[in-house]
Amino acid sequence: MLTAKISEIFFSIQGEGIYLGTGHLFIRFFGCNIKCAYCDTDKNKFKQYSAQELTGAVDKLVKKHKVKYISLTGGEPLLQTEFVALFLKKLKLDKLKIYLETNGLLCSDFARIKKYIDIVAMDFKIPSATGLAAFWAEHQRFLKAAKNKKVFVKAVVGLKTKSAEIKKAAKIIAAVDKDIALVLQPVAQQLSDKLIKKTMLWQAMAQQDLTDVRVIPQVHKLIGVH
Ligand code: SF4
Repeated sequence: MLTAKISEIFFSIQGEGIYLGTGHLFIRFFGCNIKCAYCDTDKNKFKQYSAQELTGAVDKLVKKHKVKYISLTGGEPLLQTEFVALFLKKLKLDKLKIYLETNGLLCSDFARIKKYIDIVAMDFKIPSATGLAAFWAEHQRFLKAAKNKKVFVKAVVGLKTKSAEIKKAAKIIAAVDKDIALVLQPVAQQLSDKLIKKTMLWQAMAQQDLTDVRVIPQVHKLIGVH
């Protein structure tokens, strides 16, 4: 039987991006295909679920909290695409919006579940913040594939981030659609006046190419909720 590794299922407010403050039922898929320097997800804890078990658990929480948004998060949910497709097929989707949080690298996996997804929160991985190589071409390909969904881009930035990286990200997004929102998220571990001021300068710069650029830190961490 097909099962998935799930780290946690919980209801809370969305603490990142342009849906900030809306109530989400989070399903955190275990495991990731990359290792960002700032990653704060638990690398050990998971439970195995069948699609039927997960649907049962989700249905209960949807009723209890009057859930509107189901957030597929991680880790990287697209690493378990076959399961995600089976689960979303079983779920009664009529009153729910499916929100996918992804690192924007697994384009062909996304294509397999795209029809079920309403909103895509796609990361642009900035090398100075992740400590990894750049994924510009992969991100561009993914963004093109997600363009007919409600999509926005999130880029985690830090004190070592270079203006050229933000410029590059803004140009790539603008080449797909200049109205796709870009959220600059100051990395939680370095959150300070200095970083916010720098991020606001990058915001002004990115606005030369894009119509909607916002500076939004991880609010759930600031107010101490899960
Ligand atoms: S993509 Fe997300 S889950 Fe994966 S390592 Fe980076 S921060 Fe962690």
